[in-house]
Amino acid sequence: MSAIILDGAKIAAQIKEEVAVQVTESVAQGTRPGLAAVLAGNNPASEIYVRSKVRACEALGIYSDQITPPGSVTTDELLELIETLNARHDIDGILVQLPLPPQVDSKRVLLAVSPAKDVDGFHPVNVGNLSTQRPGLTPCTPAGIIEILQRSGIEISGRDAVVLGRSDIVGKPVAMMLMNRNATVTVCHSRTCDLAGHTRQADILVAAIGKPAMVTPEMVKPGATVIDVGINRVVDKQKLREYFGENEKRQLEFERKGSTLVGDVHPRVAEVAGAITPVPGGVGPLTIAMLMANTVKAARMRRGLAVA
Ligand code: NDP
Repeated sequence: MSAIILDGAKIAAQIKEEVAVQVTESVAQGTRPGLAAVLAGNNPASEIYVRSKVRACEALGIYSDQITPPGSVTTDELLELIETLNARHDIDGILVQLPLPPQVDSKRVLLAVSPAKDVDGFHPVNVGNLSTQRPGLTPCTPAGIIEILQRSGIEISGRDAVVLGRSDIVGKPVAMMLMNRNATVTVCHSRTCDLAGHTRQADILVAAIGKPAMVTPEMVKPGATVIDVGINRVVDKQKLREYFGENEKRQLEFERKGSTLVGDVHPRVAEVAGAITPVPGGVGPLTIAMLMANTVKAARMRRGLAVA
């Protein structure tokens, strides 16, 4: 048996198309949704992430404003900047790219973002809204996971879901979203005893732990849906072979770039699972698509308009 591959890139493209239509409608009514991206300092990975978010805005017709305070920025300066963005009418979403420079109190800065403009869904008000099933903005990666499941016709209600990882960004919110959709949810973490005993019960298994290929075929119930959130870089040739066998495409990529990516799920799990997200091209593309969707949602909510 070989699992159905859940094509995240294709689903993300569909969502972006829908968002572009909503943006066009909104512009026709006189408002263009706007996203402010705050990128402090010179973290190369953050620069790449922000660039791709700004590009996605441009492609969909969303106004974007990239603000780049120096690496020496203080907490107070960032708080002042956030206040300005909270008050700006042309900005519907505020994205503070993490990590912030070490001298900055990140929690205070994130808390200062208006919950109405919190397109990352990290503000405690939005966490509370999710937990109590009130309308609000929800974190992008978990929301993308739900889109993959729903748009692939995978039933959530009544199923046993196991989430590996309990971070505020992925594990906890995705567990809450699955529970809100009537799954029976187990959340596992680094102190869980008998991890495999739990994972083998899962109809839907979400792996968000940041440990390369840790979920092996023996840990997966035959036919289960496996969502692999992990993004891990493989630079060791022996590991490359261990994960991908003689896969020619991976070997060529490794020769060319000196690395390849693997998720938290061993690629051989595809031989056991019923459906699985690839890495790359699975959950990753959904994160930006949902950020765009959240920006339009924030714009509509702020104006008291109906949201999907
Ligand atoms: P964190 O490091 O914040 O959380 C990791 C979680 O995994 C923790 O809850 C930790 O448990 C748990 N964990 C670690 N080791 C084990 C283990 N051996 N057994 C069971 N649980 C374990 O990571 P994130 O949630 O931020 O990210 C997880 C992965 O997802 C990363 O690879 C990251 O790169 C990727 N990611 C991908 C995104 C995308 O767009 N595709 C977006 C965000 C993240 P404990 O709480 O006990 O420490």
